[in-house]
Amino acid sequence: MIKFLDLYAVNQQYKEALKEAFARVLDSGWYIMGNELNEFEANFASYCGTKHAIGVANGLDALILIIRAYKELGLFKDGDEILVPANTYIASVLAISANNLVPVLVEPNLDTYNINPSLIEGHITSKTVAILPVHLYGQLCDMKEITRIANKYNLKVIEDCAQAHGAMSESGNKAGNLGDAGGFSFYPGKNLGALGDGGAITTNDDELAQIIRALLNYGSHVKYENKFKGINSRLDELQAALLGVKLLTLDQETEKRRGVANRYISEIKNSKLTLPIINHQDAHVWHLFVIRTNDREGLQKYLHDNGIHTVIHYPIPPHKQEAYAEYSSLELPISEKIHKEVLSLPISSVMNENDIDKIIQIINGF
Ligand SMILES: *Cc1c(COP(=O)(O)O)cnc(C)c1O
Repeated sequence: MIKFLDLYAVNQQYKEALKEAFARVLDSGWYIMGNELNEFEANFASYCGTKHAIGVANGLDALILIIRAYKELGLFKDGDEILVPANTYIASVLAISANNLVPVLVEPNLDTYNINPSLIEGHITSKTVAILPVHLYGQLCDMKEITRIANKYNLKVIEDCAQAHGAMSESGNKAGNLGDAGGFSFYPGKNLGALGDGGAITTNDDELAQIIRALLNYGSHVKYENKFKGINSRLDELQAALLGVKLLTLDQETEKRRGVANRYISEIKNSKLTLPIINHQDAHVWHLFVIRTNDREGLQKYLHDNGIHTVIHYPIPPHKQEAYAEYSSLELPISEKIHKEVLSLPISSVMNENDIDKIIQIINGF
């Protein structure tokens, strides 16, 4: 069976360096908020090209804390609206509701699976305070157009970069440096994955960064003094040290993913399938390679019977989830079509050419 994602093999590549990092943390006797975190934050900020990178406990908290910080700054309040793509992973939507703001679901573009900029203005009301574009599957949204609209209506742009570490625009700016703030996840299966949970926030805004640093640590800016009713959402020393090891080879891993994706795109020839469309090589880091077919069940079973494991990202759109029952009557046909038809093929930095050959050959026989 070709695994969808072999995390064991991914991390074995760095076994010695990861063990060294682990030993360094163990022997330091210091496990929360120390040198490893400081160093990783500095390196990740430099990688993204932003002034600040702030380690947090996970990607959902990263998004929650950005919105919360804008509330503390007095820019957002309860009941305000944030536009978010209707086909995103649920976490982007949860981050808005967790802050008592209202997620407004906007249909994606069927070609890119990213928020359709031409539908954004139609959803803007007097309560709209931000756009939360999600660089889904690893491909940057149309940030030029999103930024133009945000500037016109004085909206904040909060990037969900959980799937897009290192994706770069034609102007040379990376994910996390294309809006006012960006939220990253280091969940093990993400392009930059920890050996546990982790996340980060990037921004060039000093004031926002300062508030977020307090919020993630009980709302404390000075030890035992609490300016805000904060939370505990810290990236621990161990995960920071392990991530530091993997950050060094992130671009190499991305190149390997691009190699797999380019082979799929040029060699998969099957009129029953729709392959992903890319605008610009650097703007896609291929967190997922997602194809579409109106016989998804048949395709998935066929691939499984032929030894290829696939996954659906995602089977149920946020507005059809029980948690969002109040949205269940919304009609979002593009998003629903996507959720019915998408299937993700194996893609990672550790796939060998034989596996790729086999996948292409079998898919072409469907
Ligand atoms: C993974 C993911 C998140 C949440 O990250 P966690 O670290 O799992 O909390 C948010 N948004 C998107 C698009 C994701 O893929």
